[in-house]
Amino acid sequence: MSDKNLPSIIENLISPAIREMKAYHVADASGMVKLDAMESPYAWSDTWSDALKQQWLEKMNAAQINRYPDPQGQGIKKRLREKYALNNELDIILGNGSDEIIQIMIMAVAASGQAIMAPAPSFVMYKVIADYVGLPFVRVPLNADFSLNTEAFLKAIEGHQPSIIFLATPNNPTGNVFADDDLEKIIQAAPGLVVLDEAYTAFTDSDQLHWLSRYDHVVVMRTFSKVGLAGLRLGFAIGQQTLLEEFDKLRLPYNINVLTQQSVEFALDNFALLEEHSQNLCAQRAELIDELHALNVFTCVPSEANFVTVRCLEHNAKDLFEALKAQNVLIKCLHGSHPSLEQCLRITVSTQQENATLLSAVKQAIK
Ligand SMILES: *Cc1c(COP(=O)(O)O)cnc(C)c1O
Repeated sequence: MSDKNLPSIIENLISPAIREMKAYHVADASGMVKLDAMESPYAWSDTWSDALKQQWLEKMNAAQINRYPDPQGQGIKKRLREKYALNNELDIILGNGSDEIIQIMIMAVAASGQAIMAPAPSFVMYKVIADYVGLPFVRVPLNADFSLNTEAFLKAIEGHQPSIIFLATPNNPTGNVFADDDLEKIIQAAPGLVVLDEAYTAFTDSDQLHWLSRYDHVVVMRTFSKVGLAGLRLGFAIGQQTLLEEFDKLRLPYNINVLTQQSVEFALDNFALLEEHSQNLCAQRAELIDELHALNVFTCVPSEANFVTVRCLEHNAKDLFEALKAQNVLIKCLHGSHPSLEQCLRITVSTQQENATLLSAVKQAIK
C-alpha cells in the first residue's frame, strides 16, 4: 500500500451531498416469491413455439459481441417509429433502462440550477438523480386520493420555475392515472420541460402520446422493464427532435448493448406475445383486488398498473410485511416512505398461482 490517505481523498474530493447519499438498495429475494419490483412473472420464452426459439437463438448467434453495438440502436428506433407512427419532428432516444434517460435529462439541465419537480409520493429516481447533480428537488404533495393537487402544483411552478417536471402516470407507488385536465394545466404552466413517464402503459387504457403533437416541451418516456424484459434494460423517450439532439450529446456511446438491441428488435417483431402477458396480468389484477378487498383488512388504491397498493385498516404494515417475508413472500412496505403512505404496502400482480400464494400468506399473517 502506498502512504496516500484514501479517507482524506474521499473527504476532499467527493462532495458532502454524495457522501451522505445511500446507494440504491435492492432487497435480497433469493428463494422468495418476488412481488416487490413490478417485474413480469412470465419468462417470455415459456410461451414460444420451437420455431420462435430457434429464430431468437439465430439472432443471438449472429450478434457480433466482438464489435461495438450500433451506436444509435437504429433497428429498435425504426420499429418504434413505425409502431407509434411518429412524424419527422419527433425523435426517440434509447436508454439503458428509462432510469438512464432520467439521468441524461437531468444532467442536461443541471447547469441551469433550476429545480426538478415531481408529485409526492412518486418514483424515487427523479429525486435520487436531482440530488446527485446538486439540483434542488421540489415535491408537490398529491391529494388524499392520490390525484394531482393542481392548485398546489401551479403555485409551486410559479415559485420554483422548475427545469423539469416529472409526472408518472400511472404513478408509482400509487398505481392511479392522473386526469388529463390536471395534466394540461401543469403542462401549460410549466416554464421548462414536462416528462410524462408511462412505465406502466401496458396495463392502462390511458395514453399520453397525444400531448406530443400539441406541446413541444413535453417528452413521453416508456420502458420494456414492466412487460417482461427488465433484464435487458431498455427504456426510451419520445420528444421533439431538436431537444433530443441535445440529450443525445450526453448519452454515452454504445449505451445499448448488442444482445439487448437484438432481443428488443425480436420482442417488437413479436409484440403480441408480450401484450398477451400484460392482458393476463390485468385480469389477475382485478381478481387480486377483489380477493384483497374480501379480507376486510385493507383499502385498495384503484390501480392501472401491474401492482396494487393497499392500506392496512387495523394491522401494522411493517409487521405484515415481515410476516409475509417470513413465509417467503416479498412485497414492498411503503410505510415510512411518505406521510400519505402510512400503513401502505405495494404488491406486484403476478400469475394466479403466485397471487394465491400471496393471499394465503396474508390470511396466515392476519389470523
Ligand atoms: C420502473 C419504473 C421506471 C424505471 O424503469 P427502467 O426502464 O427499468 O429503468 C421508470 N419510471 C417509473 C415510474 C417506474 O415505476
